[in-house]
Amino acid sequence: MVDITAPQASLSADDLRKRITTNLQEKQGVEPEEATVADVYAATAEVVRDYLSVSSLDAKKRMVKGHVKAVGYLSAEFLIGRQLSNALLNAGLTQQFEGAVAELGFKAKDVIATEPEPGLGNGGLGRLAACYVDSLASLGVPAFGYGIQYRYGIFRQEFDDEGKQVEKPDYWLSEGNPWGHEDVVRSQRVSFGGSVVDGDDGARVWKPAWSVRAVPVDYLVPGYDSGRVNTLRLWTAKSYDEFDLATFNRSDYMGAVIPQVNAENITKVLYPEDSTPQGKRLRLEQQYFFVSASIHDAIRTFYPGEKNPDLTTFPDKICFQLNDTHPVIGIPELMRVLMDEHGMDWDAAWNITRKTFNYTCHTLLPEALEVWPAKLIGELLPRHLEIIRSINAQFVQELESKGIDDDVIDRMRIATDGPDGQVRMAYLATVGGSYVNGVAALHSQLLKDVTLKDFSSVYPNKFTNVTNGVTPRRFIKLANPRLSDLITEGLGTDKWLHDLDELEGLVPLADDSSFVERFRKVKEANKQDFAKYASDKFDFSINTNTMFDSMIKRLHEYKRQSLKILAVIAEYAAIKDGSVNVDEILPRSVFFGAKAAPGYAMAKLTIQLINNVARVVNNDPAVKGKLAVYFPWNYNIDLAEHLIPATELDEQISQAGKEASGTGNMKFALNGSLTVGTLDGANVEIRERVGAENFFLFGMQVEDVEKLYADGYDPMEYVHADPRLHHAIDLVASGAFSHGDRDTYAALTSDWLTHDYFMTMADFTAYMDIQKEIEATYRNPDEWTRKAILNVAHSGFFSSDRSIEDYLTRIWHTEPQR
Ligand SMILES: *Cc1c(COP(=O)(O)O)cnc(C)c1O
Repeated sequence: MVDITAPQASLSADDLRKRITTNLQEKQGVEPEEATVADVYAATAEVVRDYLSVSSLDAKKRMVKGHVKAVGYLSAEFLIGRQLSNALLNAGLTQQFEGAVAELGFKAKDVIATEPEPGLGNGGLGRLAACYVDSLASLGVPAFGYGIQYRYGIFRQEFDDEGKQVEKPDYWLSEGNPWGHEDVVRSQRVSFGGSVVDGDDGARVWKPAWSVRAVPVDYLVPGYDSGRVNTLRLWTAKSYDEFDLATFNRSDYMGAVIPQVNAENITKVLYPEDSTPQGKRLRLEQQYFFVSASIHDAIRTFYPGEKNPDLTTFPDKICFQLNDTHPVIGIPELMRVLMDEHGMDWDAAWNITRKTFNYTCHTLLPEALEVWPAKLIGELLPRHLEIIRSINAQFVQELESKGIDDDVIDRMRIATDGPDGQVRMAYLATVGGSYVNGVAALHSQLLKDVTLKDFSSVYPNKFTNVTNGVTPRRFIKLANPRLSDLITEGLGTDKWLHDLDELEGLVPLADDSSFVERFRKVKEANKQDFAKYASDKFDFSINTNTMFDSMIKRLHEYKRQSLKILAVIAEYAAIKDGSVNVDEILPRSVFFGAKAAPGYAMAKLTIQLINNVARVVNNDPAVKGKLAVYFPWNYNIDLAEHLIPATELDEQISQAGKEASGTGNMKFALNGSLTVGTLDGANVEIRERVGAENFFLFGMQVEDVEKLYADGYDPMEYVHADPRLHHAIDLVASGAFSHGDRDTYAALTSDWLTHDYFMTMADFTAYMDIQKEIEATYRNPDEWTRKAILNVAHSGFFSSDRSIEDYLTRIWHTEPQR
């Protein structure tokens, strides 16, 4: 498929082939004739990285010398996905690459598929960070991504014979890391522990107990057709070989040595939790480690060679966006750096710090708001605890001066006293930065009205919204080349890749029968492709004459995979017992993709249930050709890139008021899938834009949920009211999906019947009812496709380029650099 409109770099295919050949000989140590596909991948990756690094030096120079404020995006996770095809696209080298590797006797897609996927994030939050660095570079904004290079990323998920999740370590670096460049010269010292003593003139002096060396690993982030190449700097921990003499404590020899030796543990593993924080010492070490290194890195970058830089200008050089609370320790760290390392007084330091930071909140679940024991912070970062307490004292004073009630002030404390004293990171972030944003309109509203209500009354202007987005380069152009070509043809231009609002131009084509037919054929071909991929990779045999219905996201009770699997069981039971007419059944293939946090028992049990429903259903001749369930393991970006373009119906069925935004929902809408969903997160805005008639809405809304909690929720009422639900639960309890064993799912069924915090039972009937509407629409392919086209046409808003533009105008007050 030759796309003549794609941007092209001046490097020719022949030049690229020569560079790859030279790399094969000089770096990989093989003659091109003997090279394997892995050699060609490794060589190409190095050549492309070298090629990009020239532009990256230029971008850095302009950033430091220029007068445009830069952005530092601080995130504990960057789920970047495979790099090669994205780098080629953005740099305008795709065609040359195809020519060059063909010349060497390889297929481009085989070379691309060789790359392992770095799993440096859990899910949505980490993927968002990756989309944002792509958009920052594409828009020409000088920016750094700052994060952690974990040696082991998110676990590789397998299923055992019983259908249980098994977590395997992810050795993603085993074949080398051509995209990451270790810049040892620019490493930073990060210290921990020890105590704080009085210095001269009332200064406080931190005497840390041990230090680690933070070494940057730089990934280049080429903008799409922007010429700008930004840097994603991920820190890795190394120990200092030499003794840290300044902090060496003879009476605690072992204590001084062991942490030194264990330094590398800090960046060894990504915490595999999603949506809930893990209060672990090592996690706090990770957080401080990358944030401290990043702040010092920014100072070094913007004041090169200066011994005593004038840091009053720091907020003009860079602003830091805190992606959730994980990097919030940066607030007291910058205070410490300004006061203790650069001699500033409190007020000056506070003024700079508040201007420098902004905070993105990603949750509504109160249990997911990060809280640290003050004692732990005191042990690991004693000076920071002092500073946090001072920030708290100053904040309480401010509240008192505003005449706020004592009990409200107590609720709002950043740090609480006593042996069980805590530090509330979301509050620290809110007070210590300029802006707080939620990630979808509904979420930002709920933050103001519920989660951070006290704070929004005191600082009404601090709160704003930036609805999440996804990059159209990776999630349309690369993942769905057929649709991309059709869009480009339909619009007569590929400008949409720069400005996704251009998709609106497809609206009239939704009524053009030949366009509708071609759009339908694209989906059809994508389904065939996915069936082939899933056959090769998972040994599934998928019937493509079925509706492709997908629910892919982390496994969490609030997301309600239970609702989907109960509906599948109910449908299965109905087919079996003849309560539906076989001819009236709309054949479906239901896809699940989901990892569960290793310690999350309920989520893991749900995975086991889904796998066993798949086993029973797929082996039952009675439903053959009507219903099948597939659970491809190890849901990651690669799977998303393959399944989303083939999906016709996507499931966004969280309990209203629990999903902050979602980004999977956006990827699906942009790929011509129709959504069945609740009014939650960004579903609200998707529905508003694509039109209520092109979105399958069901279920309780936020107010209904609140009312039901207040009135007292009894799931049994709903189970009794719907025999289909009753029967489905009975089947699970009776051992139908556990070889007759009645105990296997007892924890699940008992939760459904007695507790059901996320009200799956209460939404079941509405969910079953909307299926009728979905099926009726699907039976009219032209009508379905028309709606799918309108989903694409009206979803341009969900480009991460638009999100970044919102950050630029609402929060960062900076601009692209030309
Ligand atoms: C987009 C994405 C997510 C986020 O999905 P949601 O449905 O928004 O929760 C998670 N994991 C991967 C691999 C993704 O690509």
